[in-house]
Amino acid sequence: MLPEAGSLWLLKLLRDIQLAQFYWPILEELNVTRPEHFDFVKPEDLDGIGMGRPAQRRLSEALKRLRSGPKSKNWVYKILGGFAPEHKEPTLPSDSPRHLPEPEGGLKCLIPEGAVCRGELLGSGCFGVVHRGLWTLPSGKSVPVAVKSLRVGPEGPMGTELGDFLREVSVMMNLEHPHVLRLHGLVLGQPLQMVMELAPLGSLHARLTAPAPTPPLLVALLCLFLRQLAGAMAYLGARGLVHRDLATRNLLLASPRTIKVADFGLVRPLGGARGRYVMGGPRPIPYAWCAPESLRHGAFSSASDVWMFGVTLWEMFSGGEEPWAGVPPYLILQRLEDRARLPRPPLCSRALYSLALRCWAPHPADRPSFSHLEGLLQEAGPSEACCVRDVTEPGALRMETGDPITVIEGSPDSTIWKGQNGRTFKVGSFPASAVTLADAGGLPATRPVHRGTPARGDQHPGSIDGKKANLWDAPPARGQRRNMPLERMKGISRSLESVLSLGPRPTGGGSSPPEIRQARAVPQGPPGLPPRPPLSSSSPQPSQPSRERLPWPKRKPPHNHPMGMPGARKAAALSGGLLSDPELQRKIMEVELSVHGVTHQECQTALGATGGDVVSAIRNLKVDQLFHLSSRSRADCWRILEHYQWDLSAASRYVLARP
Ligand code: AMP
Repeated sequence: MLPEAGSLWLLKLLRDIQLAQFYWPILEELNVTRPEHFDFVKPEDLDGIGMGRPAQRRLSEALKRLRSGPKSKNWVYKILGGFAPEHKEPTLPSDSPRHLPEPEGGLKCLIPEGAVCRGELLGSGCFGVVHRGLWTLPSGKSVPVAVKSLRVGPEGPMGTELGDFLREVSVMMNLEHPHVLRLHGLVLGQPLQMVMELAPLGSLHARLTAPAPTPPLLVALLCLFLRQLAGAMAYLGARGLVHRDLATRNLLLASPRTIKVADFGLVRPLGGARGRYVMGGPRPIPYAWCAPESLRHGAFSSASDVWMFGVTLWEMFSGGEEPWAGVPPYLILQRLEDRARLPRPPLCSRALYSLALRCWAPHPADRPSFSHLEGLLQEAGPSEACCVRDVTEPGALRMETGDPITVIEGSPDSTIWKGQNGRTFKVGSFPASAVTLADAGGLPATRPVHRGTPARGDQHPGSIDGKKANLWDAPPARGQRRNMPLERMKGISRSLESVLSLGPRPTGGGSSPPEIRQARAVPQGPPGLPPRPPLSSSSPQPSQPSRERLPWPKRKPPHNHPMGMPGARKAAALSGGLLSDPELQRKIMEVELSVHGVTHQECQTALGATGGDVVSAIRNLKVDQLFHLSSRSRADCWRILEHYQWDLSAASRYVLARP
């Protein structure tokens, strides 16, 4: 077999050092086709193809010489060269491969394409899809893994997605923590693939919103998860990294009692003396989770991660509800600056909510650090108790002797406490005398249960939640949970970002992007719709946003388009049975790449409604997006987009400036 033209450099390099016999193994088994690919090759990979350590040293020297020539313009080099956690140079193997820092377990490596087989689809994210997979190690042992493949458009991977993908690899390669998802290695194939530790139970968000008969997560478990999360975040912070996308959707369940922080695509190193990262250009940001300084200035820091931790805590205790649901994205910042805060979820104790409020301090410096939070969580966590007599009083939480009870709220002054029965999962009030605290050595429960300070805004210190003690306090009915569009969250973030990136970037100094300034000047909301509920603007108390959704236009399927949709019958056929058609998949991809922030499913539906016409599908989705941004009718949105030649950014700028 003749050497491939694109890899002649490799053959020449190996010939020069009398290692030409390794040409094919390096090319085929390690998938190295460019010098930069050696960045991912570990000594054990070279061991695996039978190259001895002296030969590895010769190779390393030769690569160094090659590198010291003119710098490569190769994309991997450029991207990884521009970013490395801890400012690690993307160097080739050092003089002595033996001295390379070896990750624990020694498994982070370049993985030959043939060693990984992909199975069922687990999910899809911003820049790729994730499959369950099986990785066969050189020893023949098979390891269940998750494989994230970079999404590739018709013209190759998108620049930003490729960058985020490689950043994620670069960040994860250096992380080892029991609550941080582990990267095993990278497959330099087509597409690029990350081979990661499998979290077989999926995302925490999916678990929180799982319908009955899946039982809800116990409060005690949620508190354990919070401590695990704070530990992982303290670890990331100590390594100078800011996650920027902390949310339950990015926490994966490795086991029923173990969460792992995942999705490092938005992770950035903290630069500069101020320890914060300022976004350099339009990038996706998860709006409802963001701290005000992130929304206003694009500034992210460990303190903004702490803010997101507070929102994540809120999500956990709200059964995975969407924060700020129903509030138009461009008004979220205004609400936050008006000191509105997410309300206390019923399952969340006042002590924990008080902690969340500290995470949501307006000034980043006033928020606790993650390492401080670890201790605070320990203090604010609920106490465990054991039921010592059956409770059957009407309205009280039913319990039987021996039931494990998590005390959510209770004080020595109160004879009625609130808690969760670990056997029945029910939450409610019960007589304090019916339990003994687990850590009180069997003594009756007469001491304060919570050491944390009560949340500001508690109005009825003598009662539980200001309710009469015998009120039944059940967790939200599972069937009543809103069907949240969270699987679209990243998409939504991206569309929001496209809005935020309109006009000049904020330059700091307190100025806000024009569309936000505009939004702030329009307190009544879009014309034609009832005004939004007034905010308690300067109140130092956290105001509780209305739990009702605002009368914002509901997202409708694109077939409501004013211009009508051709080919309805063909549409039915398209969405009915031809979904595996490669041509349709290509079209879906085309639509997905043309409209910021739409999901695969939305593209499929839009194509279905247009009988497979890509241009119409793209237009309809853009109309849909503009419609949701503004108070305009769909017909108006269509006309505005037409005027701006279907440039959604320009059209959005127009409607936001003229609400
Ligand atoms: P991401 O692109 O990282 O946001 O991942 C998209 C989705 O794939 C997640 O929401 C998870 O449901 C799933 N997923 C990602 N990584 C893993 C993993 N290591 N194990 C199991 N599921 C995963």
